[in-house]
Amino acid sequence: MLDSNCIFCKIIKGEINSIVVYDDENIMAFLDIQPFQTGHTVVIPKTHNMNLFDFPDVKMNDFFINLKKIASKLKIGLNADGINILQNNFSAAGQVVNHMHFHIIPRWKGDMIPVFGKKKKTVSSEELQLVLKRINENQ
Ligand code: AMP
Ligand code: ZN
Repeated sequence: MLDSNCIFCKIIKGEINSIVVYDDENIMAFLDIQPFQTGHTVVIPKTHNMNLFDFPDVKMNDFFINLKKIASKLKIGLNADGINILQNNFSAAGQVVNHMHFHIIPRWKGDMIPVFGKKKKTVSSEELQLVLKRINENQ
């Protein structure tokens, strides 16, 4: 199912142009128009699922196998030294387009792209244990 108000569904339907890196029956990948780095690619399923939690488990295998293939295609094609894969869920995490997507970002040594920003301070193992306790208590 597609959503007529969704920008990525419009890309799937060809109503909005995109530079296609990969396209099959279930998945599409196209170059991001505001890239973090050269070759920054967005990978989407061809159904309107809002985010990872809204995406059916039965489709995960196929999606991830192809995500890996596309990442490999970019790494080889652009001779990248590394690859970041980013995926935002909900606006609090920076999701702007509410159609599940993965960002594949080619990286080169020393390119200094602050994809995740700076690391926070080191925390003690006691603090980490408390976090784990909270995670497990709320299941
Ligand atoms: P997110 O912030 O995770 O929701 O990422 C959405 C991404 O989609 C951003 O990196 C945008 O630059 C990208 N984007 C939005 N519209 C288009 C478009 N028409 N073609 C290609 N990329 C797009
Ligand atoms: Zn959509």
